[in-house]
Amino acid sequence: MTKIKQSPFCHFFKKGDMICAYHAIRMKALYFNQKYEEELQRYLANGEEKKISKRTKEIIEKMQQNQMIVSDNFDKNAYMQTLLPLMKKKPNVRVMVLHMTDICNLRCRYCFIEGNIQSDYKRKNMTPEVIEKAIDKFMQLTLPKKFKKKPAIVFYGGEALMNWSVMLHGLQYLAEQYPQADVDKVLITNATLLTDEIAHALKKYKVGVSVSIDGPKNCHDANRIYRDGKGSFEDAVRGFEILRKAGIEPSASCVMSKETVEQAEEVIQWLVEKMHINALGFNHVSIVPSLNYYDEKYENAFADAVLKVQDIIQKKYPHVYERRMNQKINCYIDKQIIRADCTGCGEQFSVSTTGEVGICQGYMGSRKTFNNSVLDPDFNPNTDEVFMEWATRSPFTMPECYDCAALATCGGGCPRNADVLSGSIWKRDLPFCHFAKKAQEWLIWKQFELEPEQVDYIR
Ligand code: SF4
Ligand code: SF4
Repeated sequence: MTKIKQSPFCHFFKKGDMICAYHAIRMKALYFNQKYEEELQRYLANGEEKKISKRTKEIIEKMQQNQMIVSDNFDKNAYMQTLLPLMKKKPNVRVMVLHMTDICNLRCRYCFIEGNIQSDYKRKNMTPEVIEKAIDKFMQLTLPKKFKKKPAIVFYGGEALMNWSVMLHGLQYLAEQYPQADVDKVLITNATLLTDEIAHALKKYKVGVSVSIDGPKNCHDANRIYRDGKGSFEDAVRGFEILRKAGIEPSASCVMSKETVEQAEEVIQWLVEKMHINALGFNHVSIVPSLNYYDEKYENAFADAVLKVQDIIQKKYPHVYERRMNQKINCYIDKQIIRADCTGCGEQFSVSTTGEVGICQGYMGSRKTFNNSVLDPDFNPNTDEVFMEWATRSPFTMPECYDCAALATCGGGCPRNADVLSGSIWKRDLPFCHFAKKAQEWLIWKQFELEPEQVDYIR
């Protein structure tokens, strides 16, 4: 008789009197009543069961078909090695983050850029020469290629609109020099400096706008303040109105901080009903040693809040897209593994105000990974060692993650957070890990709740 065992990728979830056996790589879920659990566990422990009910037999067969039960000599690490060629990608950059400026008119309490800037750091604006060189480099890398997702240029800061004249110069340069380029353009802004003139130019150059807004006044002004401590809420809302008047439909980027995480319900209601937002993303506060350290209680509250908001969205606002959860829902439904969550893992390069090229905007203050320059005509991030290392980071290349039920839906979060917390991008991003695990369980039971007839359910 062949000896068998529960696959290391098979995880059991319980809810009420229901059990779900779930394969973390195949993303296959099998539901059954807990009355069959004892028999099943005896079978898994002994490899046979003399008196076995018809239903338990069915469960065992389904589990075998879906490799949730494997032969006793199945080797998890050897199996993961076979997946490495699929998971270890080479860099193929298609996103360029332009740091238009190191200067910001706000002093948001949780800002990870500000939190990383040293006191002797010389703040600068990007010059027209640097933005031209950056665009040339981006075009040199992307124009000859075809990508599944459209290439994108992200205008970032500081507050990018503090250097509007150079941003406008870049948009004009791109349109004139590369009229054939099919590139998304995205501005990340606090919206407080918007004018009709700027909004019209953004519309003309088809720039998507993501506004950082944290909810109604009490939530927004808890952190998003001017240097004098005054809240920026009214100015941000005015920015929204200016964009809409110009025919731009902004998306929202919303940080749920310790101060606001308990008010998630109020925040989503306000964003959708008062601000008429259709697309948004919830963010948690990034790890900055001098500012925000890892706090398990907050991370759990953040994960619960995002899931609670998703429940509300599904019930009341099904037209609304929330990036963080929708990405996971799509991955789960389509059974498409999220190899890496961060575009820095092979798809992105960032350009500093002075033209240095690195991976992640979160290192702008320290310039970690910023080892090259757009002024170097020979520099190619796709063949650079640091970019090559980042491109291979995925839960599928991190043995710490192999036993995790969220392996296929996680993506591994933010390598910078992992590095800041543990000194290496190869460690887990602990804050994200809380969320990814809770989201996995939510996906399993949400699908059962919404589609009981579509799932594999042995009654
Ligand atoms: S490492 Fe983190 S902060 Fe940097 S680009 Fe990736 S997700 Fe964003
Ligand atoms: S980072 Fe955490 S949640 Fe994601 S796969 Fe690894 S262990 Fe699982």
